[in-house]
Amino acid sequence: MTAPAVALFTRDLRVRDNPVLTAAYRAGGAVVPLFVLDEAILVRRACPPNRAHFLATALSELDTELRALGGRLVVRSGDVAEQVARVAAETGAATVHIAADVSAYSRGREERLRQRLSRDRRELCVHRHSVTVLAPGESAPAGRDHYAVFTPYFHRWTAAQRRAPLRAPRRLELPAIDPGALPRPGDLAVGDRSPDLSVGGETTGRRIVRDWLSHGITEYARDSDDLAADATSHLSPYLHFGCLSPAELVHRTNGSTAGGAAFLRQLAWRDFHHQVLAARPRAAWHDYRDREIRWRTDEQAVQAWTQGRTGFPIVDAGMRQLHAQGWMPNRARLIAASFLAKSLRVDWRIGARHFRYWLVDADLANNQLNWQWVAGTGNDTRPNRVLNPLRQADRYDPDGSYVRRWIPELADLESLAVHRPWRSTVAHYPAPIIECPGM
Ligand code: FAD
Repeated sequence: MTAPAVALFTRDLRVRDNPVLTAAYRAGGAVVPLFVLDEAILVRRACPPNRAHFLATALSELDTELRALGGRLVVRSGDVAEQVARVAAETGAATVHIAADVSAYSRGREERLRQRLSRDRRELCVHRHSVTVLAPGESAPAGRDHYAVFTPYFHRWTAAQRRAPLRAPRRLELPAIDPGALPRPGDLAVGDRSPDLSVGGETTGRRIVRDWLSHGITEYARDSDDLAADATSHLSPYLHFGCLSPAELVHRTNGSTAGGAAFLRQLAWRDFHHQVLAARPRAAWHDYRDREIRWRTDEQAVQAWTQGRTGFPIVDAGMRQLHAQGWMPNRARLIAASFLAKSLRVDWRIGARHFRYWLVDADLANNQLNWQWVAGTGNDTRPNRVLNPLRQADRYDPDGSYVRRWIPELADLESLAVHRPWRSTVAHYPAPIIECPGM
């Protein structure tokens, strides 16, 4: 009889196109679909409430998907290596399958797991094509470990061979084991979450994808930067937690339309940043390129920025959306980040930390390396560019609808005044904290 196999979920919380689950299933025996509430992430590093909430709902949907296949999610909490070894011993599993990931923490976890399992003569099987479309390093230029510039990477990414998406297993057999308890949304974190947070999970994510690919994507090339139109996919948290497979999403996107091509390009950016972080794990908190920038210390300015009270409505609207939804469109992230790092000259790490707390899609590769891109210490080929908040507002929120939506104090201002409220008399809205061209 074939021994059971453990499918260890990390940030691949789905049953479709999941190389880890498929490999465990194809081994031919029973499958233990396992998630460990990792004490190192959820307890010692104090998981932010938004992500904790999304994770809990995603695990619940994963359990429902697994039950429909005859299995269910087994949940443990504590030290990952120890808990996995215990479950493997309890069920007699010979092999544990896991997805490769890029952060220093996930690579350390993989190594600890391998060593712990080998003590019991069990094998760890690592699958490289789950978290990203192309595996980091797989397409590196000759003699180098990663691409440092996006455009050549994108050409390589577009031309690369891709695997076909995998179906969900037909039927799962679960060995006798106590499944443990699914966490409830409030169990995993303390502190207030954003009131208008999206619900996690594969079922919900696939519903959004269906709508997106049949309607939303059509105008994406034209409207993705239009702040009031809210015309992007909102798929980032589902991709971050792996409720959706990026490879399947690419496969299902028709790249011959303008919207499809523009969308694929953004998915390539995601892979790009992952391959940078895989090659340079230190870039999570250290400058990718040291430009010897002298950052300013200005606690009042940082406080105004985090609270959405800089006096620049386009910056403040983005920051208030972040707190309300745990999410912002890319254009708002660019404007808010540039304002902090370029206009206020505050260290990008301070902004990245604040985003990581609130963003439900907060992702070490995408967040830190986009911050570095904006700050000029990363992979931007024009590191000195500064996004002027007034020009950005005039261009990407021309009639002020986005600002009015998020800043009620300005809701009654006319289009021309809404981005420059200091020219009107507005109660309860702060004066600008710095001067900037175009005021
Ligand atoms: P869409 O426009 O619909 O794009 C589809 C997908 O492509 C996204 O879901 C995302 O997975 C990927 N993508 C799009 N733009 C980028 C990009 N610039 N870099 C990498 N991937 C991209 N994205 C995160 O997923 N997590 C983060 O923590 C994160 N932090 C950011 C911080 C800053 C300062 C900036 C400027 C950008 C950050 N981004 C981050 C990238 C981008 O803003 C978000 O992915 C995007 O806004 C998510 O919305 P969407 O799913 O509607 O995107």
